[in-house]
Amino acid sequence: MKIKFLGASQTVTGSCHLITTENHKILLDCGQFQGGKVIEELNDLPFGFDPSEIDYLFLSHSHIDHSGRIPLLTKRGFKGKIFCTKATHDLANIMLRDSGYIHEKEAEWTNRKRLRAGKESIEPLYTFEDAEKAMVYFEPVLYDQTITISDTLKVKFNDAGHILGSSIIELWITEGTVTSKVVFSGDIGMKDKPILRNPSIIKEADYLIMETTYGDRIHQETGSRIDILMDIILKTTQRGGSVVIPSFAVGRTQEIIYELNKFYEYNKEYQSVLDQINVYIDSPLATSATDIFQRNAQVFDEETKNYILNGDNPLDFKNLHFTRSSQESIALNNDPTPKIIISASGMCDAGRIKHHLKHHLWMKESSIVFVGYQANGTLGRRIRDGNKDIKIFGESIHVNAEIYNIEGFSGHADQNGLLEWLGHFSKQPKAIFLVHGEEDSLEGFAEKAKEVLNYECIIVEPDQEYEMNNEENVPTKGKEEKVHFDELNDLNDRIYTIRNEIENILYQTHLAVDGNTSKEQYNEVNNKIIELEKDLINLGIVVGNEKNIS
Ligand SMILES: [Zn+2]
Repeated sequence: MKIKFLGASQTVTGSCHLITTENHKILLDCGQFQGGKVIEELNDLPFGFDPSEIDYLFLSHSHIDHSGRIPLLTKRGFKGKIFCTKATHDLANIMLRDSGYIHEKEAEWTNRKRLRAGKESIEPLYTFEDAEKAMVYFEPVLYDQTITISDTLKVKFNDAGHILGSSIIELWITEGTVTSKVVFSGDIGMKDKPILRNPSIIKEADYLIMETTYGDRIHQETGSRIDILMDIILKTTQRGGSVVIPSFAVGRTQEIIYELNKFYEYNKEYQSVLDQINVYIDSPLATSATDIFQRNAQVFDEETKNYILNGDNPLDFKNLHFTRSSQESIALNNDPTPKIIISASGMCDAGRIKHHLKHHLWMKESSIVFVGYQANGTLGRRIRDGNKDIKIFGESIHVNAEIYNIEGFSGHADQNGLLEWLGHFSKQPKAIFLVHGEEDSLEGFAEKAKEVLNYECIIVEPDQEYEMNNEENVPTKGKEEKVHFDELNDLNDRIYTIRNEIENILYQTHLAVDGNTSKEQYNEVNNKIIELEKDLINLGIVVGNEKNIS
């Protein structure tokens, strides 16, 4: 058996691992790379395998960095079966269509510029329709059932407590007379999170593939997160500002609704104040996802089930409004009344949140509250890291708003949570492959696992294939070259800086020299910058990957 790590290796996005056995080719996840243009160029490259040869895809959960290239996989010839839990299927059904729609819009935008520059148009990565077609390959299953896929392959999905439907996947793979057990952690949730059950405990594995998003971090006390958030909400609204919360449409948004509902329920003394503050969920995807949560109550934790039994809807309260149309969304920013706006995308790279940031970042009365992971290279990361001058839709915005980061809402276990989960294994697996983490997290966690559990971990290298060797109990590494994610990230940052500098010069020249410079002239220069960016990106792929990624 061989395992090849094709994504989420030394980075947190693009989760995709290929297991090749004597009898089958199996994929674990098929996620999209996210976090800036340079990294996202990786999505378009050939997969490191022939999609038509893959028999099964086991999907850990619906987040786009785990599922986002499924429509591309089917478009490029995959004809196998995609197994996941029912809730993951329901969520993927809306999230992949949404993703297809975003890719179409992005391609449209790029093509308008390319056309003006006399270039050929480009195809979207995949379309809404491609996403729709991909759904026919899905086979939703229940948690905790051992499913016999073939004589040589069994699988079981266990609750990972990360988002609705998320799974830790156990695989039993038989080759000859030997059956090996592979465990894929997917993303591991935090214990005692709202709505969801705790991550399942797994006690045995021959080979473990484990996430390490927060491998070197300890989260703030979870009990305090709603108090911190309420504190910010009250302070901000009292000084006349609004609170903007960039939030992942699926999972995080529903948790915040749940926590606010609970706070409103148990803190009647705030009632009169809270009655004045409207809460808007401004994301069509978050609205649809909330409906799906309501329909999958069977996988909620006990506390949430009790709310429902007592007749309360845990995902609704008096001042909560869901905005669907873009007119409703725009109206939010024309109304100066202090309010709470929860909008996607969570890392601020796309969607309506960019409009809300544009309207609120410059206002000293407003607050921006991050409640989720911000990957390298994203707009959210730049704001969270304290950059004072930000570009949104080509416009310079000076940050005056207060910026907060509440880690307690994280969907991922922290270092302690990961160690505790790993500590439940009765003995060290033959190999522990660490994935889904940036460099510091991977190294931090490997060190800690050695120190506390005396377990040796392998930090996998991008595009490396490891051969499992039953006799020696040590995997042998394949020979392929790797992608250098740190170099790609650096390049991404350099492009961003150069772009900002050029745009600032243009902006100032435009004001100083000639107030009548036409929009066309400005667009022309802007097109040049885009071309330059494209060249740099192509160069980056060559620099970042001395061989090739396919
Ligand atoms: Zn996830």
